[in-house]
Amino acid sequence: MSERRPQHIVCLSFDFDAMSGFISRGMNSPSPISRGEFGANVGAQRILDLLKKYDVPSSWYIPGHTLETYPTQCQRVFDAGHEIGHHGWTHVPPANMTREQEEAGLVRANEQIKKLTGQYARGYRSPSWDLSPHSVELLIKHGFYYDSSMMGDDYTPYRVRQGDVITLEQPALFGQETKLIEMPISWSLDDYPHFEFVRTNTTILPGNMNAHHVLQNWSDDFFYLRDHLQWGVITYTFHPFVIGRGHRMIVLEKLIRMLKDSGASFMRLADAAAAYDAR
Ligand SMILES: [Zn+2]
Repeated sequence: MSERRPQHIVCLSFDFDAMSGFISRGMNSPSPISRGEFGANVGAQRILDLLKKYDVPSSWYIPGHTLETYPTQCQRVFDAGHEIGHHGWTHVPPANMTREQEEAGLVRANEQIKKLTGQYARGYRSPSWDLSPHSVELLIKHGFYYDSSMMGDDYTPYRVRQGDVITLEQPALFGQETKLIEMPISWSLDDYPHFEFVRTNTTILPGNMNAHHVLQNWSDDFFYLRDHLQWGVITYTFHPFVIGRGHRMIVLEKLIRMLKDSGASFMRLADAAAAYDAR
């Protein structure tokens, strides 16, 4: 462990929501549906071509709704050698579901993943990054190896706790660590809040940031890892309907080139989790 060479792992991950995220917010009229369709029919193909050009492995978290709506597109992702991870069946965050609804969706989408890949998903990523109090127990029960929905570290995976007691008026009581590995994520390393314009009856997400400015944030987070840690993982999260637009694809390509030139090791999340486990 002491004399190891530095290793800076980059995980590119794609949440292949297509229209499921809009539907889960009650946005099922033709225009929002078409935004999701763009991801499935245009964005995902562009991304697969780019990943192939640079020979970069990646992880795709696909809701059951997308798996069953766009089987051909999902097959293409799998055939290209990318990891297929679990992203719920609907895109409703577990925190908004009962335990029964959550488990039913977990099982239903996992069967669909098995149909595509021949095995159940090793990794889970919660829709909208909001786990329920039952999620960890259900993920362990259903044999998941890692989760990627939490933000308790940035470059170092960790073991997920179970049984925390968190109340308003008392200090937090932390539960026990489990064997489930957390591959941490961050909203700042996610394309969605930077770029996507979303208007609901009560909120506006302005999005539409200058992609080159965002690229600087994303690059600097890798440079910090490279310059301060001997070993670590940085996970970027993209959505085909968001990053798949022309000016953002240019920035994604620049990011990949910069990471390659800076000595990054690209891995699928399951492989990065295994590398953490092996240490
Ligand atoms: Zn999603």
